Amino acid sequence: MRISDDRYHGERERMVLALRFLRHEARTQTIRTWTGLSDDRIRKLYRSYLGAVRRELPRHRGKSPQQAAYFTRSVRLQEETAALTTTLWLAGVLPAAGVPEAAGSPAALARGALLCTAFEAYRLARPEALISFEHAVFLAAVLTRGDQLRIGWCGRCGGLTVAETCALRVRPCQHCSGPAT
Ligand SMILES: [Zn+2]
Repeated sequence: MRISDDRYHGERERMVLALRFLRHEARTQTIRTWTGLSDDRIRKLYRSYLGAVRRELPRHRGKSPQQAAYFTRSVRLQEETAALTTTLWLAGVLPAAGVPEAAGSPAALARGALLCTAFEAYRLARPEALISFEHAVFLAAVLTRGDQLRIGWCGRCGGLTVAETCALRVRPCQHCSGPAT
């Protein structure tokens, strides 16, 4: 009895997170990686969700983002990346990681929920937000690994900045380095 209760609970938690990812237009591959649900379950969930909202949502197929250079491509994206990273950091998405959790494990589901909360806060604060949920998932992975990008602190104001891991020192944040030329 107890085992089946736990199993039901775990399944329900997976579906709840998958639905939250779907609302952010996450790819099937991403939903599978975090929830451990099969592609078939995700497709069924997507169809029933569409029936509930009665509108078409864009489905993104193919591979998830893989280029960390995206986050430093322009001054605007650097600023957006710092804002999103701040919410990821505040929500506890980054320090909680380290070793990747197994898909659908309680730790992965908990961190996935924090990731959604952080992304929702970022979008709420910035109606013109540029960074998609898929890129936010990728950013969290890159910062967790620390092999391409890392968190730094502006030497002048102490604000959070995102620097390339290979950079020798953290440059001042955009507010302190003045208007972009
Ligand atoms: Zn600063």
